[in-house]
Amino acid sequence: MASEPRFFVLLRDDLRKPHDTDFVPALGFETGDFPRCPKCGKGIGQRDWLPPFKLEIAVHGKEGAGDFAECAGSLLISERMAAAFRSERLTGLEAFHPVEVVKMNARANRLGIPRYLHVEVTYGRAAVDEARSRIRRVKPIECEECRRTDVDAIHGFRIQPGTWDELDVFRPRGLQADILVSERFADFVQRHGFTNIKLVPTEQFVWDPLRKGPPAEAARTQMKSSTMNASADED
Ligand SMILES: [Zn+2]
Repeated sequence: MASEPRFFVLLRDDLRKPHDTDFVPALGFETGDFPRCPKCGKGIGQRDWLPPFKLEIAVHGKEGAGDFAECAGSLLISERMAAAFRSERLTGLEAFHPVEVVKMNARANRLGIPRYLHVEVTYGRAAVDEARSRIRRVKPIECEECRRTDVDAIHGFRIQPGTWDELDVFRPRGLQADILVSERFADFVQRHGFTNIKLVPTEQFVWDPLRKGPPAEAARTQMKSSTMNASADED
């Protein structure tokens, strides 16, 4: 049997790393509608942030601005990263749009920043595999299309085999607030040395702000499946 593709959660790097960079939209920004599920009509994500993308940038890292920054689900990537993404024909980022920086902190001024582009992440066909994931959902899933619910905690998850549409960057059905990337994208980041990016394998991703712990029943299923799929780390 062919081995299952691996996916990573795309995050900004940890605070105090050498390229720590963040941004906020400048006051007075405008937003459009929510992206909606084509089947049940429920909102499946944040309201779209509309151009012009005016923003304030803060560089905290000692070595200067990163290639990536994130704020409440909005993403910036450097021009260098955008050019490489396009020339290698990776997929899943869209609407590359220049931004206007209206304010910078002292370190950003001193060290300089790259040109950044605001990008949007595609909503993919790939769906969370509930049986092999440890997610505390506030309510059961009602819509088979978007599989959207509020979530209290995530203690690792997997993508349902056969649902992935080969996008390199996407928001999965069932966890649209998270951004996943392919192994190809992980290799791309490493090869180019793009900074301020952290990639966590989905099965190791933990998000649990209320410290509720993993759901008990799913934990047993997960243990069983990870024993069955035990495989060595390929690094
Ligand atoms: Zn739906």
